[in-house]
Amino acid sequence: MAQPQAQVQPCRYKTGKTLGAGSYSVVKECVHIDTGRYYAAKVINKRLMAGREHMVRNEIAVLKRVSMGHQNILTLVDYFETMNNLYLVTDLALGGELFDRICRKGSYFESDAADLIRATLSAVAYLHDHGIVHRDLKPENLLFRTPEDNADLLIADFGLSRIMDEEQFHVLTTTCGTPGYMAPEIFKKSGHGKPVDVWAIGVITYFLLCGYTPFDRDSNLEEMQAILVADYSFTPLEYWRGVSVQARQFIKRCLTIDPTQRMTSHEALSHAWIAGPESDRGEEDLLPTVKKNFNARRTLHKAIDTVRAINQLRSGGLGMMDGASSTNPKRVQDEDGDSSMQDVASAGDGKGQTEAQIEQQQRRIDETSRGLWDNRAQQAGQAA
Ligand code: ADP
Ligand code: MG
Repeated sequence: MAQPQAQVQPCRYKTGKTLGAGSYSVVKECVHIDTGRYYAAKVINKRLMAGREHMVRNEIAVLKRVSMGHQNILTLVDYFETMNNLYLVTDLALGGELFDRICRKGSYFESDAADLIRATLSAVAYLHDHGIVHRDLKPENLLFRTPEDNADLLIADFGLSRIMDEEQFHVLTTTCGTPGYMAPEIFKKSGHGKPVDVWAIGVITYFLLCGYTPFDRDSNLEEMQAILVADYSFTPLEYWRGVSVQARQFIKRCLTIDPTQRMTSHEALSHAWIAGPESDRGEEDLLPTVKKNFNARRTLHKAIDTVRAINQLRSGGLGMMDGASSTNPKRVQDEDGDSSMQDVASAGDGKGQTEAQIEQQQRRIDETSRGLWDNRAQQAGQAA
């Protein structure tokens, strides 16, 4: 593959308002000076690349190829760099992020969730067929092309995390916020290929059906611990009563700890919940539950973040999970104010942890991951 050369050029675009911010970039609306056409520009600070710009450029070249080839992948229009930044210019997605859009709907059924997951999976299968692992699938990275009802869902983040997090793993887990969508093998550092995307799709599916994530815990460490042993359930029952057996089975097949036993993206596409008849899916309107839980979690996580910040200030320094914020769902635009606190109470009191607790958790995670890793290493050794 041709290695794109580093070229320093003046910017051909005028940037406008900020559309969103990720962990290592800012996305701004922009207009091409010559054509007057509007796009979105993802601005990546070179300093954050820490000498790995060549890999980013290489990845961009690959993505430039695939982004034109699938309806559910945002098209990369242009890329260039200035002295300080790298710019990825893409189509402007005017339909907003996945969850905001669902919350604005009048009703929302299991079949709607299946449609959204099918679109996402088909893009992911396409990426996988081209040897690309996204590694950062989550609702914030799924955008709608237009505000219309039948708009395409787009994967909007070009999987740069694949390059970023190899050595900056620590940075990512401590600054990204939530580990909630990460697969167990990521924490075990036992290789993370295509199966990590299918795991993330399992988490997204769970989230789309109830409004909270399966491994949501009070701290990132507890969350990682839960992920490592796939400690989740379809509870509280009241929120899962209307959800079909197929949907649960689909989630189970995604949230399988052993990546070799997990469904592939193609298997997921032909799973009964995705490919089967609509009559097999739950028929309840999920919107009230999903919206209520989403808002409740948002309130809870705001409280946890506040308590954590206070604890950090009190302890006069920055703890080991600095910069981490809780799984903080974003605002819901047409909020109806009905954020039942019942849920908030059952999810924990949001208190900060003592150092001893954190240490103990870290030990348990280390032990768990070492155990699993050793098993896997042994299996790999036997297979070789
Ligand atoms: P990061 O990789 O840093 O997470 P993203 O590509 O996910 O960056 O972009 C961050 C946010 O910016 C997204 O969650 C979304 O809200 C917004 N965004 C990204 N690309 C577009 C786009 N093409 N059109 C509109 N909004 C976008
Ligand atoms: Mg993103």
